[in-house]
Amino acid sequence: MSDRNKLKLIPLPRDVRFPGGSCALKGEADGIVFTPDPTLPPEGYVLKLDNGSISAAASADAGFFYAKQTLRQLRAAYGDRCENLVIRDAPKLPYRGFLVDCCRHFYGVEELKRLIDAAALFKLNRFHWHLTDDQGWRIEIKKYPLLTSVGGFRSGSHFGGVDEGTAHGGFFTQAEIKEIVAYCADRHIEVLPEIEMPGHFTAAIAAYPFLGCTGEPMEPVQKEGIYPNVLCVGSEEAVAFMKDVLTEVCALFPGRYIHIGGDEAPRTRWRACPKCTEKMRELGLADYDALQGRFIKEIAAFLREKGKTAVTWNESLQGGCLTGADVTVQRWMDRKQLCPGFAATGGMLIESDFYHYYFDYPYGMTPLKKAFGWDPFRGVGEGAVTGVEGALWTEYVRTFEDLSQKLFPRLFAVAERGWSGLPPRPYRDFRAAAEALIPLLDDLGLPTLPPSAWDPGAGARLKQVISFFKGSLTPDFLKQMRENNK
Ligand SMILES: [Zn+2]
Repeated sequence: MSDRNKLKLIPLPRDVRFPGGSCALKGEADGIVFTPDPTLPPEGYVLKLDNGSISAAASADAGFFYAKQTLRQLRAAYGDRCENLVIRDAPKLPYRGFLVDCCRHFYGVEELKRLIDAAALFKLNRFHWHLTDDQGWRIEIKKYPLLTSVGGFRSGSHFGGVDEGTAHGGFFTQAEIKEIVAYCADRHIEVLPEIEMPGHFTAAIAAYPFLGCTGEPMEPVQKEGIYPNVLCVGSEEAVAFMKDVLTEVCALFPGRYIHIGGDEAPRTRWRACPKCTEKMRELGLADYDALQGRFIKEIAAFLREKGKTAVTWNESLQGGCLTGADVTVQRWMDRKQLCPGFAATGGMLIESDFYHYYFDYPYGMTPLKKAFGWDPFRGVGEGAVTGVEGALWTEYVRTFEDLSQKLFPRLFAVAERGWSGLPPRPYRDFRAAAEALIPLLDDLGLPTLPPSAWDPGAGARLKQVISFFKGSLTPDFLKQMRENNK
């Protein structure tokens, strides 16, 4: 070995020395000497393998936890003996996350725990839990029980033109939410709930029609797309309702961040709504983009009073009134190039580029090598990026097996970039490490595709992309996309 790049560890440790000789690898924490070292950074650790004696130093529990994860990976990759090593390690970025969408298709507590176990093993520390959307409201709110009893269930599913033939639904009780939050905390993972507003809101309106501009009854949506059913931000009752929801949400999630969506909110209903139009005039705003910006600013201030930082998708910057003091922005597709300006004024970004870190698409569209090659600091500089995140949306992910295969090993690329920074090691070395560590996922009951499927050739890529989009790119869907981009 004696070459840091070739270490079969993900993420790659920042600093490694090879003193020579070799060391027996013991079982989990067996005979390992743990020593506090207050000079190390909060998530950092030093791990020494020295001719059979193994020692770890850290300043905090997270560092010891990560030293143990490194040892688990070494045992998986090298068996019961490996070269002597001195690893001095700490993450490049404080935020290293993964998103799971439990709305389009519902995945429950036991399945999430397996994903969380795997994320911890690769030193990810944020679970972005997508809990509300057009197709389902998945978090129990005690004050408004219809959100889940009505908004949590739909009578069918027709994503990508496929009729699944059954009703679909489910939600997390507050007890289950607490269970997941505690499970994550034990693994040094903070949970960020995502409560979407003002768009991706149909399920909430289905439960409480007064939340929408028209007051009309509707049902949770059964297929993919962008829908005009947004929160009526001109209604004081509707805005107060969302603050009540967030008050319960803040009490459930002890972490710093609350994600409030802010993406893909068509203006159709607002334009036709007397209350929203009046609100815009009253505030002297130039357009409906500014109305959204002002709404997000108000909600962000509400969260800040509760000690939280609001996170929004990059579209929320279109209103022009948000600064780094208001929100942290998650960049997924910044068509109008607003993130660099936001970053220049001190705004912080979480990087989840659609073409590289969205893992719900086939490997033909986003091969492992492509995900690995992404530079999350591109265009904004390192100081503006607080984190990276891989996203797994579930419109077309109907089984947990498929979810696992799409997420892993591509999520490894996010884990490595967030922890190890740049420059990257040679891709072939990263790939060899990924192959060596797959048995750890097998142990967790997380299936993966064979390595031959991770980087398909050009012909196979084209075939996969065409067959994937065949059912989705209907005239109706394309019209929706155009509306959203206006
Ligand atoms: Zn309205």
